[in-house]
Amino acid sequence: MPPASWSKCALFVFCALVTGGAVLADSETPPARDAKQPIDEAYTAKIRKYTTEPVFSSPLVDYLPAAKTIPTPEVVLGDIAGAPGILPYAEDVYKYMRLLEKATPRVKVFSIGTTEEGREMIAVAISSEANLKNLEQNRQRLAKLADPRTIKLDDAEADKLVSESVPVYYITGTIHSPETGAPTALMELAYRLAVDESPYIRDIRDGVITLITPVVEVDGRDRMVDLYKWHLAHPKDFYPPLIYWGKYVAHDNNRDAMAMTLKLTQNVLNTYLDWDAQVLHDLHESVPYLYDNTVGDGPYNAWVDPILVDEWQVIGARNVADMTKFGMPGVFTHGDFDTWSPGYLMFLAAMHNGISRLYETFGNGGADTRERTLEPDDYSRTWYRPNPPFPKTRWSQRNNNNYEETGLLTSLHYFSENKRLFLKNFYLKSKRSIQKPSAEGPAAYVLPANEPRASVQADLLRILLRQHVEISRASTAFQVSLPVKKEKKPAKPADSEDKSKTPPAPTTRDFPSGSYVIRMDQPYSRVADALLDYQYWSPKDPQTTPYDDTAWTFGELFGVQVTRVTDPKILSVPMERITELRAIGGVEGQGTLFAIDNHAEPSLATLRYHLKGATMDAAEEPFQVGDRKFSRGTFLIRGVSRSDLDAATKPLNLHAVVLTSAPSVKTHPVRAPRIAYVHTWISTQAEGWWRLALDNLQIPYEYMSTQAIAKIPDLNAKYDVILFPPVGWNSPSTVIEGLPTSWGNPLPWLDTPETPNLVGKTDSTPDMRLGLGWDGVAKLQNFVGKGGVLLTATDTSQFALSIGLGNGVSSASPSEKMKIVGAVVGTRLVDPASPIAYGYEEKISAYCDDGPVFSVNSLLGSRRRRLGPETDGRPTGRGTKDDPDFVVGRPASEAPDEPEREQWEVPIPTDEQLHNNPRIIPPASRPRVILRYADSKDLLVSGLVQGGDEIAQHPAVLDVPSGSGHVVLFSINPVYRGETEGTYSLVLNALLNFDSLNAGRTNAEK
Ligand SMILES: [Zn+2]
Repeated sequence: MPPASWSKCALFVFCALVTGGAVLADSETPPARDAKQPIDEAYTAKIRKYTTEPVFSSPLVDYLPAAKTIPTPEVVLGDIAGAPGILPYAEDVYKYMRLLEKATPRVKVFSIGTTEEGREMIAVAISSEANLKNLEQNRQRLAKLADPRTIKLDDAEADKLVSESVPVYYITGTIHSPETGAPTALMELAYRLAVDESPYIRDIRDGVITLITPVVEVDGRDRMVDLYKWHLAHPKDFYPPLIYWGKYVAHDNNRDAMAMTLKLTQNVLNTYLDWDAQVLHDLHESVPYLYDNTVGDGPYNAWVDPILVDEWQVIGARNVADMTKFGMPGVFTHGDFDTWSPGYLMFLAAMHNGISRLYETFGNGGADTRERTLEPDDYSRTWYRPNPPFPKTRWSQRNNNNYEETGLLTSLHYFSENKRLFLKNFYLKSKRSIQKPSAEGPAAYVLPANEPRASVQADLLRILLRQHVEISRASTAFQVSLPVKKEKKPAKPADSEDKSKTPPAPTTRDFPSGSYVIRMDQPYSRVADALLDYQYWSPKDPQTTPYDDTAWTFGELFGVQVTRVTDPKILSVPMERITELRAIGGVEGQGTLFAIDNHAEPSLATLRYHLKGATMDAAEEPFQVGDRKFSRGTFLIRGVSRSDLDAATKPLNLHAVVLTSAPSVKTHPVRAPRIAYVHTWISTQAEGWWRLALDNLQIPYEYMSTQAIAKIPDLNAKYDVILFPPVGWNSPSTVIEGLPTSWGNPLPWLDTPETPNLVGKTDSTPDMRLGLGWDGVAKLQNFVGKGGVLLTATDTSQFALSIGLGNGVSSASPSEKMKIVGAVVGTRLVDPASPIAYGYEEKISAYCDDGPVFSVNSLLGSRRRRLGPETDGRPTGRGTKDDPDFVVGRPASEAPDEPEREQWEVPIPTDEQLHNNPRIIPPASRPRVILRYADSKDLLVSGLVQGGDEIAQHPAVLDVPSGSGHVVLFSINPVYRGETEGTYSLVLNALLNFDSLNAGRTNAEK
């Protein structure tokens, strides 16, 4: 470019910066206020006052338009949005949105459901009067684009609908409760969208329906506001960390989009689909200053439509460009987020033919204005962040609101400008979902009618229904061809290779009538495909730090049969769509003795608790009555009427049959234990998933903290089992010690005048810092010693071992070389006679996240003895390769054979070890290995497994006698994110058989 024009160009850029405008393409609307519309001077002055530097604002938000009859957020907040010291409760946010609704026909508020604790969730629609008046007609048009079968996949008809329709852009705020800025930003955004007469905002109002759920995690928001109020009342003190957000989980509420166990996920998806929205844009705060955390990095989720990937890129790039032109630093996309897992709330859109988006803006975890010093990683200049944030700056909640609103307004404007493109894409993605069988496949997934684990199958199908997936039932038996598996060619042809080998013939599989078919020629085929398929994350992937789990394969984690069918013939099998699942439980026959075969269905535990008065026994061996086979662990039920049992089993999908006489097998009682459920004040997230599972199964327990259990004088008098679910990788010493109390102030988690919502339906303490303490340790040891059962998993198992429970078990954290990142791994049943294993087959898939690695021994306090160096054949000496060696001058002597023991087996002590050795654990007290990890080659079922040798074959579930009681240790996490129902019964079996865990145990001779 010649110098003369360069200076002109430079001058132009200078002007643009001064006026705060941006370089515009032809016919673009400038992002500037309408000079004819008055502004709210006082409000505007405060915006400028609370913005710490002018660069942290934009021409879209540095003023507030005035409207005589429409209230600004100040009416409810007492100050402007983003003001220091102001965090509104959800109720106040709703109050404001409803005031807006009253004051202008451009706003409508909808109630979209309630939370686990009964708080309301809302969605606020903002658009032109005309758009809101014609909502229903518009919705009907969008519904046709969302399900192109209704217009016979006719592109011309779609184009017509596209030209007539107004798209819906859905924004969700504050799913993460300590990320506090979104509600006030969204209050002000709603006001601007309703009031501002500038051409830029009018474009949005006329072109888009903006839908806003200002608070997603309502229970957590109210707790967070409480804590902030406590902090304002005690400004010099440390304030308590937000240990509970929602009723069950904290940060993981944004990992529920697969199993959809939480109300917030269900309410947001129902709203998103009821409105046939095109975008779900979720607001977060953890990265300075605005990270469009959508485009991310590889590997991308393998099931999304590439059209969506393109949409992420164009919207993200444009968003960054627009804000950069305003002169706002620290706005970027890409970054280190991989889009692999579909567990994030925003992914509800990605999996339902929409556009998922997520912002990380910068927040102070409250409304204080603070000096913020960044880490080098956050302020470094990179290829995707040419204009990084400042290393150090004063930051306010107003700055945060400026960034959130500016990002959203520029996105909404761009979306409105290109609404035809995005509506057409929406149609195309829906159409391509329907065309899946003939495009990439598969044609369908089948869940067979003869599934032995029928109640678990029903639960899996129920998740698909929650995902709005269509399910059909075949009305005849049918057969499908299964794809031929290509055999791997060996690197070098072996001598013995049979050259004349014929290629493998295609196999078929028969399914009975009544089997469930998930057809892939439906609009939401993608989500079903993603959940039911397998995942493979290559150990050689350039992405070495997966952002979240690498696998979730639902059929494996639920332990039910799921067949991926590519044979298109299946689509012409006669079948009927179902909207609810048929009840399959109940009693078969007439009589007084009933049997329920055990297939490790969690609802068996529910039944035990429901029918308190009935006598239930477990068969310790398999048996047969007539030609009907019953597995080990079968429930034999007496003392309940046929009609009562029928009523109890029906909703649980359990099938009971009448037996005319009792089978001649050994049995023991199955009892409903009294459960103490222990949590820490360090973190409640991992245990929250366990609590949720027990509540859904209606299994009662007493919920208490480590502090509380330490104060109970006689644990055995009150409880049969202590359940101590994972904490979340905390060291055993933290469980015992808690946080230091020799400095700082108590951290109360109590209902107080400032914190009326804190406790809710969970737990309380005057000081969160205290841990279990050494008294508590002694109590737990005593409880087990006197016959109690302590059940632990992952880090709490390591804790149990650290306090001397679990004789003969050692635990190691895996080395850097092993990477099992939230993967599905293979395990093998070692001891099917253990009650913990009742109902399971030999192969069980389980969720594993890096161990820990357990080893077992018969010797107390020592590592497993290594057998001598593995030698390949005999040492150097006389004779041929297979001859014995000899020593000159003495008779030959053979070395005694070491008894061969597998990695997971407790070694038999040698004679030398047995001699005068009090450290030898008596055979009856040695660890009993119930489940082990599969061999290295079979360890990977789904996801990323690298360096798995370290954990392969090691115990995965252990029952360790201790005193007169037991410690049950899990290396896998059997209860996780509502996704692992297949392994729930390992826990539930331990509960129901708490006083008979030694059933079927065989002890070594020495
Ligand atoms: Zn977040």
